[in-house]
Amino acid sequence: MSRAGNGLLGSLYETGADTWPLPEVRYNNAIPMKPVLLLALLLTPAFPQNPFNEKPSYARSRDFDLQHLKLELSFDLPARKLLGTATLRMAPLSGDLRELTLDAAALNIEGITVAGRPMAFRTADDKLTITLDRQYPAGEPIEFVIRYNTQPKRGLFFVFPDKHHPDRPRQIWADGDTAGGNNRYWFPSSDFPNDKTTTEMLVTVPAGWQVLSNGKLANTSDNQAAGTTVFHWLQDKPHATYLVSLVAGEFDKDTTNWKVPVEFYVPRGRGGSIARTFGRTTQMLDFFSDNIAPYPWAKYAQAMVDTFGGGMENTSATTEGAAAILEERDFEDRRWNTDSLIAHEMAHQWFGDLVTCADWRHTWLNEGFATYFEALWQEHARGRDIFDWQELRAARSITSFPARVAVVPQNGQEGNDAYAMIYNKGGWTLHMVRGQLGDARFWRAIQHYAKKFSYQTATTADFVESISEATGQDLEWLFDQYVYKPGHPEFEVAWDYDSTNRLLHVAVKQNQKVDAKPAPFRVPIEIETLGDSPQTFRFWASKESEDLYFGMPSRPQTVLFDPRDIILKSVTLKKPATEWTWQLEHAPRVLNRSEAATALGSMGGAEVVAALAHAGASDPFFGIRMDAAASLARIKTEDVRPALLQMLSDKDSQVRSAAAGALGSLNKNAATIDRLFEMALTDTSPAVRQAALAAAARLKPEKGLERVKPFLDDQPMRPTAVSAMAQIADEAAVPALLELSHDPDDRVRQSALSAFGTLGKGKQPVSDRLLEALEDQEKGDRQAAVFALQQRRETSAIPALERLANTEPLPNIARAAQAVVQSLRLPAPRPADELSALRNRLSELEKENAEMKARLDRLEKK
Ligand SMILES: [Zn+2]
Repeated sequence: MSRAGNGLLGSLYETGADTWPLPEVRYNNAIPMKPVLLLALLLTPAFPQNPFNEKPSYARSRDFDLQHLKLELSFDLPARKLLGTATLRMAPLSGDLRELTLDAAALNIEGITVAGRPMAFRTADDKLTITLDRQYPAGEPIEFVIRYNTQPKRGLFFVFPDKHHPDRPRQIWADGDTAGGNNRYWFPSSDFPNDKTTTEMLVTVPAGWQVLSNGKLANTSDNQAAGTTVFHWLQDKPHATYLVSLVAGEFDKDTTNWKVPVEFYVPRGRGGSIARTFGRTTQMLDFFSDNIAPYPWAKYAQAMVDTFGGGMENTSATTEGAAAILEERDFEDRRWNTDSLIAHEMAHQWFGDLVTCADWRHTWLNEGFATYFEALWQEHARGRDIFDWQELRAARSITSFPARVAVVPQNGQEGNDAYAMIYNKGGWTLHMVRGQLGDARFWRAIQHYAKKFSYQTATTADFVESISEATGQDLEWLFDQYVYKPGHPEFEVAWDYDSTNRLLHVAVKQNQKVDAKPAPFRVPIEIETLGDSPQTFRFWASKESEDLYFGMPSRPQTVLFDPRDIILKSVTLKKPATEWTWQLEHAPRVLNRSEAATALGSMGGAEVVAALAHAGASDPFFGIRMDAAASLARIKTEDVRPALLQMLSDKDSQVRSAAAGALGSLNKNAATIDRLFEMALTDTSPAVRQAALAAAARLKPEKGLERVKPFLDDQPMRPTAVSAMAQIADEAAVPALLELSHDPDDRVRQSALSAFGTLGKGKQPVSDRLLEALEDQEKGDRQAAVFALQQRRETSAIPALERLANTEPLPNIARAAQAVVQSLRLPAPRPADELSALRNRLSELEKENAEMKARLDRLEKK
């Protein structure tokens, strides 16, 4: 699965139904954290659900084999209730089984029969235990018929028109959620990935509705007297129960022909966006099926649904958040984000659905693979440069995390870091595998693995063995260091040239430590020299400190360390500014120019600014121009301003956005502010206009509120305008924000509620509005109100927050409310304490903010 959002606010609010479980909040001695830091921790996206919630999370032992699951479902719509009959065909794995336990959470079980004979049962927590009436021989299937009903708290969501969205089409959708154990909230089964089964679903809905589930549509039948239709879907190849899906409701649907039927569903009324949104789907199917294995399922459908964020790769029937639908005006800005989401979920049809991780510790075999294959689609569609540049950025993000958790986490290592490691470092692991094998052998290994474990489960060891079987290459060393253990090498590299002896000397150090002791990695590294006589050397780095000597006829212009970026690492290269500026201008690879552009950002001086300005204006690759903008912003002296202003005219909208953002971080300047406001009005790209308005607001313009307010009349600018009003921090905005806190647009309303974290303190109408929002049906409103009350330190809200903590169905919001209650009960920080605590924590804070930014960047991509 993946998680989605549009920028910071979007990331906070446009999340999945059962989203954003939050890490435990840890308090720093007696001094409460500064609210903003606590907020940051609370908002840090954790793994969607704690993947280790069945501790210890080894593959679960089984007493029986679930062979077939048939669900006959109908709804009591006003009550948001599911009425179901589940028929489970199960074969005991031993002949002395007297009881059998299923996963079933908060289901009202009406009765269980086997061949018409009632069976005794009991329920406890999220288990249903059935007492068998006699001994059944091992391997002999028993068919259990379980009648039940439920108003699901998780797993299945009823999205109907409400006070904020009176015209919303009715939608019911499931979210089994990787590692989430959510499907047990709407049907009984063996809800663990190591018991695959065929499935079948007969769903009765009002006439005119669509129903989408796994496999192929066997038939539909209308009951005109009742005004209903029954959809019968059949999945005749085994899959894991967390991938069982149901989407029902008022949808527009389109179908296209490929090797199997390819279907698209969007909420009714948005059918005009289908071609624009899903236009590359069949090209992706070609790319993946040509390179991995033939597409394994009877059809491929995607349904975009309201209030869901990101995507969930249900077998042959992916569910995605409707925020990914592309309208005409934002096609250019957002098409690659939507394509990434579509490619990610599609890659799961092979990695996750066809080959499933045997237990959740090996989740990277699903998520790391989908993350890397999403990038491989980008490489295929957009070229190697952008792929390389994005992998380099991913590596920077991964190596900025503290090395606490391995890609295959140990039991007890929980969510937060695991999320980044499973998706991002897991994906980068495949990049390293490809770097070691080369493309031809990489694809051979992937194909062998996909074929060998089709319709089965796999562990990391199975993948390593598959590589060896397919290519003869043993990569155990790579997995031992990078997958089973946390961390990466932290290199420090310097070079010099001895012209008398014509020797290049490279000094390589590894600075990482485990338990305060040096812990060098053993990894193959390429060293490449650029200049008159370019050469490449290879060696195995393996020591805390080592000196390498290579014969060279003349002094190189620069020395590159791992120039193709195929080893995950951080590296500090000790090079003078002149060498970096040469590399920025002359290195043929985007990777090496990006490295130079970024390194120069921590230097400064007229020559550095001139080199970055030159690259920002003329590098042929847009990403280098963006890197240059970011580095100029870090240098921050006044002489960077002209270059950034010029970059506002770049032909690429992403560069213009980066330049606008960079200008917003310089010192306040009236002419710059005017220019940014002008761009916010006139640029052709909505994303650039939003970036310009946000940057202008950050500079706290004179009469800012007056200048921002007109943007509230411009539909795509409204959420940004509300954030800008909060940023300007003018108390005069409060009446307008109170009104906007009732806006029908979720992002506008929730941004307005968030603004009350800092505005309208001590004003009763604002406090009342936040208390009201705690009870809103929209989860994003409740979430925004919780955090705003925390920031305001509104102790009078404690009873309401406690009520929410006890009644909130979504665990992440309940936990956040609980944490806020605890923090409000701590004494308010005294200014002096607060200041010294803040000083002490400054570098830590910066680090954590960088981490959060990296995570949000990652999420934004999906
Ligand atoms: Zn995924």
